[in-house]
Amino acid sequence: MGLQEGEARRAFESVASKGRLILIHTANAQQIRDGLVTDVYFERTQEILKSKGINPVVTAEFLAKGFPRDYPWAVLAGMEECVDLLKDLPVDVRLIGEGTFIYPFQPVLEIRGRYLDFGRYETTLLGFLCQASGVATMAARCRKAAGDRPLTSFGARRAHPAIAPMVERSAYIGGCDGVALGLGARLVGIEPSGTMPHALILIIGDTVEATRAFHDIIDPKVKRVSLIDTFNDEKIEALNVAKALGKNLYAVRLDTPKSRRGDFRKIMEEVRWELDLRGFEHVKLFISGGLDEYRIREFQDCADAFGVGTAIAAAPAIDFSMDIVEVEDKPLAKKGKRSGSKSVMCCNDCMKTVVVPRVKALKACSCGGKMIEILSSFLSQGKMKTPLPTPLEIRDHVIDQLARREDL
Ligand SMILES: [Zn+2]
Repeated sequence: MGLQEGEARRAFESVASKGRLILIHTANAQQIRDGLVTDVYFERTQEILKSKGINPVVTAEFLAKGFPRDYPWAVLAGMEECVDLLKDLPVDVRLIGEGTFIYPFQPVLEIRGRYLDFGRYETTLLGFLCQASGVATMAARCRKAAGDRPLTSFGARRAHPAIAPMVERSAYIGGCDGVALGLGARLVGIEPSGTMPHALILIIGDTVEATRAFHDIIDPKVKRVSLIDTFNDEKIEALNVAKALGKNLYAVRLDTPKSRRGDFRKIMEEVRWELDLRGFEHVKLFISGGLDEYRIREFQDCADAFGVGTAIAAAPAIDFSMDIVEVEDKPLAKKGKRSGSKSVMCCNDCMKTVVVPRVKALKACSCGGKMIEILSSFLSQGKMKTPLPTPLEIRDHVIDQLARREDL
């Protein structure tokens, strides 16, 4: 039985601030909490088990068997939302902290409880983890490629607005220095970062005048970055705005469309040369437009800052799946899955990570380092045992691990 058109529409309307309804095709928090974002086969499973009076204690684990494009590692994200959904349910939860580097076949979340208490959340929990981890992973890859040069997420426009703050949070914890979306910045507790759009220059009609207007009006603590590819040659406009703003100009941004770009490196080198020749060595080159981790690496030696949109915001998801590994505390799993509750041990020295049966947790690494259990107990019968880390703490954890790895 399908929903009537009116009902279907009402199910997706939310009340906007002034009381007017706005149609957005997203589930709201209540619908998620009510378990409505679930695949129908879980609803049918629930119906069968309830009717038959079957509701065993099961242990279920979440892991990815591989990563997109054969990435050697991924960055775990989305766990804060999982925890909030599972909190107050009669379940025990072990998890790996957000921002931890993870590897294929490594459990990142384990839930133990009566199946009917959490089974219907499988779709939702996977949705939280898969997309956020994909975004955080790509942000970390871009971070690695950019070295210590500023990296800003410009990707909110590539995602549905209802999830844009989540995308920005994941980009930030993955290693971006800043995010352009105000709501995303607020979510992670930083000021938003941005330059100026072509719209400002087109409407004012002149790059120098637009840059001066920005300098006149906008809070002095915001760095002055002039967009120099709207009307004229980048080299000429770079010099014009540098002369107009002098020491107040932080950077020039090149967002030149591919069709007009020619050799982007040569353009950047030429702009750099002309700026330096005239004493504007302090003016940095900020580039954006179609960048990903490989393009960033290509331009790492001539650009000073990077703005990345699509590559991060529309990053491929990490394909986690949820599988039952114990029923009534007895190891049991489908073909192709290892049964039983597991320990994920990470060496605090060489970062080697191994998965072992939980009953056989290791103490020492072959390098001599100490093995630490990173799939740690977080909820006990729905009660939180430790506070969640802040976005800044998660990001610091990512940066620390990135510094210890060379591979992309
Ligand atoms: Zn080790």
